[in-house]
Amino acid sequence: MKKWVKAVMACFIIAVIAVCITFPILSYTNPQPRLWAVEGDDSITAVSFEEEINSLDMMENTWQTAVPQTEIYKLVKSHFDAPLADGKTEKKAIVIGYDGCRVDTFRLLENSKESGINTLLSDGGHAVFCYCGGVNYPEKNIQDTSTAPGWCSMLTGVWADVHHVTGNGQPKEVEPRTLLLSLVEDKVIDSSAFYVSWNGHFTKDNATYINEKHYIEQNNINAVFLRAGNDIGTERNVLSDLNGEDCSDFIFLTLEYTDHNGHGTGFSLQNPKYVNGFRNADATGAKFIEAIKARPNYKNEDWLILITTDHGGLVKSHGGPSFEERITFIVSNQEIIK
Ligand SMILES: [Zn+2]
Repeated sequence: MKKWVKAVMACFIIAVIAVCITFPILSYTNPQPRLWAVEGDDSITAVSFEEEINSLDMMENTWQTAVPQTEIYKLVKSHFDAPLADGKTEKKAIVIGYDGCRVDTFRLLENSKESGINTLLSDGGHAVFCYCGGVNYPEKNIQDTSTAPGWCSMLTGVWADVHHVTGNGQPKEVEPRTLLLSLVEDKVIDSSAFYVSWNGHFTKDNATYINEKHYIEQNNINAVFLRAGNDIGTERNVLSDLNGEDCSDFIFLTLEYTDHNGHGTGFSLQNPKYVNGFRNADATGAKFIEAIKARPNYKNEDWLILITTDHGGLVKSHGGPSFEERITFIVSNQEIIK
């Protein structure tokens, strides 16, 4: 064999070996959700975003009167602060987050088989338009429509001018505390749990809640911060908690199906992969609600169940000021607008 042929073959073999070794290591150290690129043909022909959301008859307000996403904080706080209703022995709350879920996905609900949102609404629940970015559209937003600022505003009840998380990769100081910390530390509840798969929440050095996680560990506060490799892992962690005899009093979780599909293939009802991302997220939400209703002590527990998102999306991105990124939603088993 000629020398140059041998050299080419040797290079090829070395390249194959390098890929075989490197890829599993990268996959292990940086696991990504594997189900985001689900194939499907379940898309709809969309008209304009405004027309789509104006046609949603389950909403109790208009997008012009959308509530701020900081309302999530108030709803959870006031649920735990209110006295127990007759016959109830314990309060519980869960916030089910569908990351990057546009509100026009609600157009898909009439054809949803398993749907957390439909489950809440058919049980007498409530749905409202919500906004992210600090002020309602079309006024210029004061914080990015990004993941970290959005969830942080819901968990702390304030905007980025106070919590200072203006983007991803900016660790929040311990103050202002999230509900996961403050409710337990102030002895309003006994336990809380934060279930995610995105590594930007609390597992990287520059993650949003890394300081709060360290504070919780150092002070033996009964709050669990647990990250799984993907949404299936998050589902398993949440169900394991909900199926426990004494589940966490407050559970906050995020699912990445919609956000990953949006970034990968486009935030649009006309994109079957984004539609499938929504279907996956909402079917998972339905499983959580079923698990809550199946709890042996469910009759005596007073549950607040919220489904929401951190931002919408436009084309393959979010963070900006557009209508599609700014208007979101809250669905609840209890009244939102009193
Ligand atoms: Zn997000």
